[in-house]
Amino acid sequence: MAPLTNASVPKSTKMHSKVVIIGSGPAGHTAAVYLARANLNPVLFEGFMANGFAAGGQLTTTTDVENYPGFPSGILGPELMDKFREQSIRFGTQIITETVSKIDLSARPFRYWRESQEHEEPETADTIIIATGASAKRLGLKGEVTYWQSGISACAVCDGAVPIFRNQPLAVIGGGDSAAEEATYLTKYGSHVYVLVRRSELRASKIMAKRLMNNPKITILWNTVATECQGDGDLLNNLRIKNVTTGQERDLPVRGLFYAIGHEPATALVRSQLQTDPDGYIITVPGTTQTSVRGVFAAGDVQDKRYRQAITSAGSGCMAALEAERLIAEEEEGIEED
Ligand code: FAD
Ligand code: NAP
Repeated sequence: MAPLTNASVPKSTKMHSKVVIIGSGPAGHTAAVYLARANLNPVLFEGFMANGFAAGGQLTTTTDVENYPGFPSGILGPELMDKFREQSIRFGTQIITETVSKIDLSARPFRYWRESQEHEEPETADTIIIATGASAKRLGLKGEVTYWQSGISACAVCDGAVPIFRNQPLAVIGGGDSAAEEATYLTKYGSHVYVLVRRSELRASKIMAKRLMNNPKITILWNTVATECQGDGDLLNNLRIKNVTTGQERDLPVRGLFYAIGHEPATALVRSQLQTDPDGYIITVPGTTQTSVRGVFAAGDVQDKRYRQAITSAGSGCMAALEAERLIAEEEEGIEED
């Protein structure tokens, strides 16, 4: 175990914290609320357009959030994140609107640098919670920007139930477990669901693939890609699709298009220092948020390729806070690692 104080690290005049949280989505703010209430004076870096998102994370890019408990009439994504932030501040979290651009997890206290200050003296922390989130991969199709969140979404569970998709033909792009799960979910709302698979086979697990292929409300379009999203200027109503083996193009009139082509976890900051899976997600000890480095915890989408929901992110943020709090207390009491 790396010692809590390391003689080789020069004394810093910069900030030292017991716990630093990097990231400002539901995971980061939930961790902050718990740590602040435990009087650990957390510092939360909310980022400045970090990973392409405003402070507050992915939910700042959406409208109604209808599945976050406690808001029976739903709540706008940005409003929900304002409330998270307000609650963090209420209990004394220090929020810094800057992005952490460099980190050294090789010894404790951990060292980190803010964007544009990489050549200056680092700041230090005894424990760090990584809650930097993830982003859905996009295709960059013609018309995609116009109809993003106006017919196009990357989260069927989040958006599938909205009225514009009810009893309408819908399409999903992808052939993995997410595509299978999302297409099956969408059959509850849409009149029919087309799944565009770019190859002649699915990547999804056998059981998920079977469920997909046996659903009478789903048609799989093999060897098929989308080439353009079209609509009336406000809402999507057609997809141009192409069979990649024949080269033939045609219209697929759909009112909803759901991308399920994978996500990109925001782990560039730590990828070479923490154990990650082949897709870049941080690996944690099962049932905990403990990463491969003692004292570093990961919460939210950055370590979760399966659920990727606000509530699961908040839940793991709570776990990270409780685990960090426990570690700090044990180390202060001089209790050694198991
Ligand atoms: P994120 O929300 O991904 O936020 C992390 C943020 O931290 C970043 O975005 C950035 O602002 C900041 N950050 C990143 N790197 C750094 C850094 N180096 N330094 C400082 N700051 C940094 N889920 C639901 O449950 N219900 C929904 O209805 C729903 N709708 C969605 C709609 C859309 C359009 C999208 C994209 C997602 C939706 N989700 C929904 C999923 C949900 O938003 C995510 O699961 C959740 O936000 C993940 O939270 P997180 O805390 O892991 O991080
Ligand atoms: P994934 O397994 O990486 O699958 C992505 C799918 O999108 C693949 O079929 C891929 O096609 C396709 N794709 C990628 N880029 C594309 C492009 N540019 N154009 C068209 N298609 C494209 O991602 P995922 O489905 O999100 O799953 C991620 C992980 O989470 C997996 O480990 C999965 O098992 C897990 N997961 C599990 C469950 C569950 O068990 N309930 C649910 C969801 C996710 P190719 O196959 O041709 O590459």
